[in-house]
Amino acid sequence: HADTAMYHAKYLGRNNTQFYSPALTQEAMRRLNMESNLRRALDSQEFFLVYQPQVDLQTGHIRSVEALIRWVHPQHGLIPPAEFIPLAEDNGLIISIGDWVLRTACRDAARWHAAGFSLEMAVNLSPVQFRNGTLTRKVRDILEETGLDARFLELEITETTLMDESATTLQTLCELQELGVKFSLDDFGTGYSSMSYLRRLPLHNLKVDRSFVSGLPHDAGSLAIIRAIVSLSESMGFTVTAEGVENLEQVKILIQQSCHTLQGYYFSKPVPSDQLPALLGQNWDFDRLP
Ligand code: C2E
Ligand code: MG
Ligand code: MG
Ligand code: MG
Repeated sequence: HADTAMYHAKYLGRNNTQFYSPALTQEAMRRLNMESNLRRALDSQEFFLVYQPQVDLQTGHIRSVEALIRWVHPQHGLIPPAEFIPLAEDNGLIISIGDWVLRTACRDAARWHAAGFSLEMAVNLSPVQFRNGTLTRKVRDILEETGLDARFLELEITETTLMDESATTLQTLCELQELGVKFSLDDFGTGYSSMSYLRRLPLHNLKVDRSFVSGLPHDAGSLAIIRAIVSLSESMGFTVTAEGVENLEQVKILIQQSCHTLQGYYFSKPVPSDQLPALLGQNWDFDRLP
């Protein structure tokens, strides 16, 4: 039994020292099972992408969409990315999943461009995808294959990627910038890193983490942090996106704080690709809010 528990514990990830707990073993079983399921999911076409609009406060139009992966497991149903992306990062499957996401998102974006919508596509990238030195070639190939212009692709990276001091990651970031793609720093304000990387690296946009937006309108600390992020961005020449915007009060405050782009359930939930074109004509009149 001890061997089995150890074997399972290996799959439980970091810092797990609890053994012999039946609940834990069950959890380990679930993860083991999920890993083999995850391996089959790509081939069995169990993944799909949903797209969430990002609204430009200047124009009131949808300027870009963020691609978010979904997994429909044949038995367990919909599994959120927070449950399987970390596992895919641990076992390396994130490389092929990430390729699929990039290709699918760029293909959809190219299709919408062909239909007359000038839209940017934001794609989330894991730090792991930067580490093997093949990302630039992949992005270049996918852009060529789909016909999407590089300037319409925005890669969402995290502070973990920027903190990675490996030469490969740094070089890849610079190569991609030369290709003409943009970088947006996701979940900004939640990392533990120093901010010195902000001057060294080719960033274009900061995304204020949802946890600060959800503090509005009542939490003064959240407001202070958002104000500081906007001010920092202005002096660095970055634009600012606020994510997780759920209500009108938050919209009003974020306009007041001079954010550039808003994203959240207030505007739209992430939708499957066939539902997006119907949203693209929408216009929000921010001068005439109720
Ligand atoms: P993220 O990149 O910060 O994405 C934003 C998350 O917030 C999404 O969750 C989105 O559905 C959710 N969200 C958007 N607006 C609202 C709102 O108004 N209220 C609330 N409560 N939530 C909102 P989701 O789709 O579950 O994705 C979670 C995380 O999983 C993402 O966070 C991202 O880190 C990761 N992820 C998703 N798709 C991919 C992918 O294709 N590749 C990689 N590497 N990671 C991905
Ligand atoms: Mg994101
Ligand atoms: Mg985010
Ligand atoms: Mg987030």
